[in-house]
Amino acid sequence: MWGSLLRERALSAAIEYDHSAILGWFRDHSSFYSDRIGSRQVWEQVRPLEKSDVAEVPVSVDDSIREARTSGTSGFQVSIRNNLRERRFRRALLYRPQLFYDLPAEVHQVVFVDGNWCAEAGMAPKLFEYGGVRYRTWFAGVAADVGQIHSLLRSLRPQLIRGISSGIVRFIDQADDSLRNLGVRYLAPGGEFLQPEWRKTMHDAFGATVLDCYGSTESGAIAWQCPLCRRYHANVDEIVLEADADGLLVTPLFVSSQPLLRYRLGDIVSFDAGSADCEIRLPTITIQQARRDDWVIGHDGRRVSPLSFQFEQIPHLDAWRLHQNHDGSLCLYFESVHPDIVAKELGRQLADAVPNQPFEVHEGIWRLGRGGKFKRVSSDLT
Ligand SMILES: [Zn+2]
Repeated sequence: MWGSLLRERALSAAIEYDHSAILGWFRDHSSFYSDRIGSRQVWEQVRPLEKSDVAEVPVSVDDSIREARTSGTSGFQVSIRNNLRERRFRRALLYRPQLFYDLPAEVHQVVFVDGNWCAEAGMAPKLFEYGGVRYRTWFAGVAADVGQIHSLLRSLRPQLIRGISSGIVRFIDQADDSLRNLGVRYLAPGGEFLQPEWRKTMHDAFGATVLDCYGSTESGAIAWQCPLCRRYHANVDEIVLEADADGLLVTPLFVSSQPLLRYRLGDIVSFDAGSADCEIRLPTITIQQARRDDWVIGHDGRRVSPLSFQFEQIPHLDAWRLHQNHDGSLCLYFESVHPDIVAKELGRQLADAVPNQPFEVHEGIWRLGRGGKFKRVSSDLT
């Protein structure tokens, strides 16, 4: 049902927000928001919500609420809570671009997700019907065995591949056979800034159309690259987006369990001047700077790609962040329920990836207080 609504809205003229009505809704939500908003009627005068404020936002009581943690690659992990209806709507919004893809009525898709597990072709897929298309989905962990991913793709011949950009690139880099005969028509990566070289790698490897998706755990899908005009249409009908100079502010209008008002996501984004020559009427944006991992500089001056760090394969490792200091030394932060074993293995793999560079391994990714949106690998040298 949401498919047809989201299609219709995408094709109709841009919407006007009733800012004072939205502020009124937030004011009524809780004393947290009524205190923040006070008597202000002007939207821009309401102080943006920072990551450190999110834990204070009251959450409605609802048995269907589930918590998701952001990746913490900004150095600050945030817990986001959505109820069942919101999670379903988020999925509908995530699939919105595919309403305009040229896909058959039944689609096989493989999604690259965090982790080292990979489905086998004989396993039952996850089913989802949307916009007149039946999606059959299998998952591949970005750190899974490359041969196993390749065999999954060979058996399934998915029309669509989605998921974590760097994971797809890692797979391409390590797969030695051609991927052009697998029948893939679209790659719709997300989760990270899609660098031009990654886009080219994907396109060349699969001979498929690459259409980027931009979103966040906090807000859901924000914008998507259009198969018709190739610009990024923004989901402004569902999320109030403000291209603030200090970073993008988002207000998702479909979230009521833990609502976020003018939440600072922090990416640098600008609205394009003029509308695209496209039947999709949603305004378009350009992502200037977002979630791009830094390269690390080796002891010998060699640049080490952030993709060299595949710590996900280490058992019991829950999260990690790597930072390079001004003096070249490295600090690896991690989370694990078995810190002693994991720290040892992390140290061994880090020394292999960046030989002769001094390093420390610390438990607790929160201990790295550095900002910078979406970076898992950050460096003071690049
Ligand atoms: Zn378009």
